[in-house]
Amino acid sequence: MRWHTVNYKAEDSGSSLVDRGWWLSDLPRLMLFCRLRGHRPVVDGFGPREAGLHAARWVVCDRCGVRPSPQGSLDPEKYQVGDPYTGPWIPLTRVAAADAWMALLGLRTPPVHEDDKGKPGPWPESPRGGFGGQVVVGSRALPGFSIGFEVGNCGSEHMLDMHLRLGRLLAIYVHTEQFGTWVQRRFNPNGYDSREFRLAVVDWQFRWAIWGRCNSWLSTDPRWQQGYFSFDLMEKLFGPKRYSYEPVGDEQVGLVRLPEGDQYEVRLLLRRERLGRPRLRWRDRLSWSVQWTATPGIPYREGRSIDSWCVRVDDEAVQEGTWQTAALIALGAKMSQMRTRHGYRPRTKEDG
Ligand SMILES: [Zn+2]
Repeated sequence: MRWHTVNYKAEDSGSSLVDRGWWLSDLPRLMLFCRLRGHRPVVDGFGPREAGLHAARWVVCDRCGVRPSPQGSLDPEKYQVGDPYTGPWIPLTRVAAADAWMALLGLRTPPVHEDDKGKPGPWPESPRGGFGGQVVVGSRALPGFSIGFEVGNCGSEHMLDMHLRLGRLLAIYVHTEQFGTWVQRRFNPNGYDSREFRLAVVDWQFRWAIWGRCNSWLSTDPRWQQGYFSFDLMEKLFGPKRYSYEPVGDEQVGLVRLPEGDQYEVRLLLRRERLGRPRLRWRDRLSWSVQWTATPGIPYREGRSIDSWCVRVDDEAVQEGTWQTAALIALGAKMSQMRTRHGYRPRTKEDG
């Protein structure tokens, strides 16, 4: 059993009082029924049977969701998802032999006998699972009220997920890993959509999901199953609040020199930003931003770079015609901050 926590407060730059993640992992799974009566192997997988291209089949225990190792690679044309698996297994004698070879040669994966290709192997001796979660207190970043319960799919890392959010006051998230697979096997065995029950009041909207597909507001779920009702009068009268951008003037070229000593040529484009409602134009909130593009991009961690992004500049900088300088300073500061976060230091000429 392992217990560890992570303090996210440092990362969210102090916008909350408490922001802590926790994990209780490597717990033995009880699986009483399976221990007493043995696992119940069924065929699991995805994809159409006809096309065969994007299809896969393997073996899983219908009760506890544990997969044998190897899990098997069955013919999608012969095996249907959900059917009991009555096909061949890798013989135990050959499993023992493979284990011996593994130990002898220090192999990471057991050698598979020619006759056993695609067959499932033995069930794991002591399957493990865990719990985890996060507690956030007093965050400025979390508006609204929400309560929900989620059941994962056959590919989920989190099997069951629960959350409670009380605006900025408190947010609690709890999830299980492996535990609760029985629930997924019973109620959501097919496909890669997790399912959820949720009630939320966010942004003047009342949202609900009743066994709805998670994270898919474009889904084909009927409205009773997943939908929202807006009680935002402003939106009804004047239209939804949106950002829009308009380029001002031509693209300009600048040189950004980062505190780490390297420099890049960037193209800068000044943009007028508007935040407002279509039928309430006179109340638009106006601001300025500069879109920058660099080819090649500016590295901020090993093997990663950014080639286009956006920085804000203020009214004075635009009025005085110094927005290019202001944008380059903001861009340099932002990139340097990201480098620090990733512990990245570019190789400069002095390093050779
Ligand atoms: Zn089982």
